Amino acid sequence: MSNSTKVDDTISVITSDTANLVTNEEEASTSHYIQLNKSSDIQDSGDGSHGIRRRQPVQKFEPGSMNILSAKYESLDYDTCENHLLLDEERKRGYPFVVWKDIARWFIVLLIGVITALIAFTIDICIEEFSKIKYKQLKKSVDTYVLLDELYIPYLMWVLTNICIVFIGSMLVSYVEPVAAGSGIPQVKCYLNGVKVPRVVRIKTLFVKAVGVITAVVGGLAGGKEGPMIHSGAVVAAGISQGKSTTFNKDFKVFQYFREDHEKRDFVSGGAAAGVSAAFGAPIGGVLFSLEEGTSFWNQGLTWRTFFGTVVSTFTLNFALSAYHGHPGELSYPGLLNLGKMEPFPFQFYELPVFMMFGVVGGVLGALWNHINYKLTVFRIRYVGSAWLRVVEACLVAAVSASCGFLMMFLLDDCRPLGEDPTKVPLQLFCADGEYNTLAAIWFQTPEASVRSFLHDPMGSYKPWSLLVFVVVYFLLSTWTFGLAVSSGLFIPNLLTGAAWGRLLAIIIQYMLPGNSINPAKYALVGAAAQLGGVVRMTISLTVIIIETTGQISNALPIIITLVVAKWTGDFFNEGIYDIHIQLAGVPLLPWEPPPLTHNIYASEVMSHPVFTLRTVENVGHIVEILKVVSYNGFPVVDPPLADDAEVTTYKRLRGLIRRDQLIVLLHNKIYNENANTTWSNFNVDMDMFRKEYPRYPSIDKLDIQEWEKTCMIDLRPFMNPSPYTLPHRASLPRLFRLFRALGLRHLPIVNDHNEVVGMVTRKDIARYRVWRHRGHMGMEELLLSSE
Ligand code: ATP
Repeated sequence: MSNSTKVDDTISVITSDTANLVTNEEEASTSHYIQLNKSSDIQDSGDGSHGIRRRQPVQKFEPGSMNILSAKYESLDYDTCENHLLLDEERKRGYPFVVWKDIARWFIVLLIGVITALIAFTIDICIEEFSKIKYKQLKKSVDTYVLLDELYIPYLMWVLTNICIVFIGSMLVSYVEPVAAGSGIPQVKCYLNGVKVPRVVRIKTLFVKAVGVITAVVGGLAGGKEGPMIHSGAVVAAGISQGKSTTFNKDFKVFQYFREDHEKRDFVSGGAAAGVSAAFGAPIGGVLFSLEEGTSFWNQGLTWRTFFGTVVSTFTLNFALSAYHGHPGELSYPGLLNLGKMEPFPFQFYELPVFMMFGVVGGVLGALWNHINYKLTVFRIRYVGSAWLRVVEACLVAAVSASCGFLMMFLLDDCRPLGEDPTKVPLQLFCADGEYNTLAAIWFQTPEASVRSFLHDPMGSYKPWSLLVFVVVYFLLSTWTFGLAVSSGLFIPNLLTGAAWGRLLAIIIQYMLPGNSINPAKYALVGAAAQLGGVVRMTISLTVIIIETTGQISNALPIIITLVVAKWTGDFFNEGIYDIHIQLAGVPLLPWEPPPLTHNIYASEVMSHPVFTLRTVENVGHIVEILKVVSYNGFPVVDPPLADDAEVTTYKRLRGLIRRDQLIVLLHNKIYNENANTTWSNFNVDMDMFRKEYPRYPSIDKLDIQEWEKTCMIDLRPFMNPSPYTLPHRASLPRLFRLFRALGLRHLPIVNDHNEVVGMVTRKDIARYRVWRHRGHMGMEELLLSSE
């Protein structure tokens, strides 16, 4: 049999398999989602095909299910492709290049810190100044019309102002860049975990995010600016480190050597950390945030550089804000979240159970918050799909927020003498002369300033009823707001709700123990931590962030205890809010640990087969055909079959691994000829050819390949990864998992005892085995891929 006949045979084998794929994809696309199976369904079929994974039955699935993995997410590749081009580059450039690259890394981290801080500064100043104007005008209007008994005029003014401002932000998010919605933390978390979220680190996203968060906070929504700062830091990092912008279609031709997934991911983790640092004035919390979310690729050098970035970020912001507020050099504004100077609060050991009780309350309320938000998000996915409906919903929430505030000020008669706290817009409303309405003071300022009020105002500043109503209203508003088509985070609203119920509990404790003098700040802070911990379930980074934000290490123990109990309690009911949103999006996120009790699941059950492989010297037409019929991004490169090997489908010995993007670049640059006998160095090829296209490669359909070129051959050996990680087919699922998680892999060929490729495992193959926990029960479920 001639060589070309074999090639054709191979294509026909592949095409028939593809036909199966297409049929299944068609089924899947009509039903959108595919049913999950519990692990108990995974059994040896007893037909002699032990270890071969059967295609799961396809069932109709409602959109908004938590049990699917979306095929649209691709992975990042943290593994370096040590091909000949790389080795050649290293040899030519030598040690000076290593040193130069290291210096460039530090310089980029410095830039990331400074620019992230300057963005944070701009956002902060805009929010502060616009809010000042808004609330001053509203106060003037209330003061005028309360005397005329025409309070509906300031009410309408408030509602309309909110709607108009939120409308701008929501239009931007819905029509210009939907990925800028929300806090951005789930997306950054996915990126650090190794999943490419489309458009998440673009400059356009950053612009929409920055304007969006200003409009959301000034528009009076129950949202905060801190989460979006973390996302902004990540975008800044991705932009600077790559030296080019897709949005502006501009290549600055610098830092080309960082145009690789693993380099970019390192910078993005530094950027996210700088964002946390700018948001909370928490440099160590920032490092821990990135550590907590991206442990798989952590190393000492990265920790050190990330810490440098966070310190630069917090220092730059501090310097700029201090100068802006008229005390240059004083450095008393380390982050956007300014909770004011907290005193160390003394606590007794017998108070520890009280803090635990706060943790339980926070965990239960957090789980309830997450549950309501989950239901709302599913409702949005199903019924509020179109962009204009999402804008309408955001405007509705803006109007309802203003209405709730107005009704509370109007109906709850809670007055307090003037001059006892630093409220900027005291509103008399129906209070006696020399007094102001405390609820108006809470509503007529940014939510962050309200957290400060709850933390620092003396005991007796708020009536218990006012606090209770505020907690209920703000709890519901904040859970409704998270997930709207606006850019805003959930840290501040939850801190505010928690501080309010913490203060309420402090009043109750004071009532029960009249002899003791209760410090409301202590309980408000612990309440705030518990509520936030119950919602987000971050442990180490959140603890450190709160400690750094309040500047009191001596308060650490109560906060740690509260957060741990809040997490445990919340975990009893459901997942953290970010994980819920990640699961709803079907992102193949790899958790910290492999699913337990899975040592009896073998690679042969997890892997896909037959595998689409390429030969070391491959026919151009065959490559084009494969790239067109399948969407896989990685192909094992195998030895060509022996001349007397009539069976084209037998397993072949593994020689390397090549990615789709590498093949596309080779085809695009026409690195082939009639007989593949020209060595690659004759083609004048180097790593820059690949870096120039990174990260957006042309699609195979866009390549102009003539019919005659399809008979040419490519020698893949210089370009493929000659030593990819592999595992034998008898490896267990935990072993596969650890390899993927620890090394940040994208593709893992599975081999038999002769190093022949028998299967392929990707991130989605292992992410589909997921642990579920519900009310103390635990198990494992197997998810299937959705085509969307
Ligand atoms: P990623 O999406 O992570 O960039 P990918 O596109 O190559 O990687 P996936 O989309 O994760 O692959 O793969 C979907 C399914 O296809 C998985 O079950 C995987 O095992 C399988 N698969 C991937 N590559 C191949 C291949 N070369 N031959 C056969 N099956 C493959």
